[in-house]
Amino acid sequence: MTPLLTESELREGVRRTAAAIAETYAGSPVTIVGVLTGSLVFVADLIRHLEMPLRIAFVQARSYWGPATQPGSLYLDVSRLPQLRGQHVLLVDDIFDTGRTMEALVRELTRHEPQSLRSAVLLRKQGRQEVALAPDFVAFDIPDAFVVGYGLDFNDLYRNLPYLAVLNQAAAEDASR
Ligand code: 5GP
Ligand code: MG
Repeated sequence: MTPLLTESELREGVRRTAAAIAETYAGSPVTIVGVLTGSLVFVADLIRHLEMPLRIAFVQARSYWGPATQPGSLYLDVSRLPQLRGQHVLLVDDIFDTGRTMEALVRELTRHEPQSLRSAVLLRKQGRQEVALAPDFVAFDIPDAFVVGYGLDFNDLYRNLPYLAVLNQAAAEDASR
């Protein structure tokens, strides 16, 4: 598949985003809450640029079921969250598309009474947002296409591509077998 964002472009975008995050928190401890499974590569790369005291936790969100490129019903598992009360919490997801996932997670995490709650995404798709909320940190704005790689999947495949690509017909057929 042809890269939409190459490895070096991703590296640079992650570095830039980490710098903005570091500036915002100015050394205060932060709890990163990654959204499984798509954010795994972004979280792993991002945290290695951050030098403040960091805790890492994960929630699971799922809105794509099987070989689908349109979101279905949203499933959230927040059962592995640590104590968030009084903490600076940064939600980290792979992509802000309609924004429904982030909106639901912000609503859920707010109930834990963190000291602050912000969000960071690797990607934001242009012209797709259905919610008032906007992420605090965005590494890249991309066109409205279904993308895979760098943690993002189609039917649970292609997460291990080191670059980001628009899913092509052949790859979609391979992954649907
Ligand atoms: P939202 O709730 O903002 O519509 O969707 C967010 C979630 O949908 C993301 O966390 C991601 O898992 C999934 N998603 C949205 N667009 C894409 C895409 O182009 N490719 C992949 N692989 N997942 C996507
Ligand atoms: Mg996701």
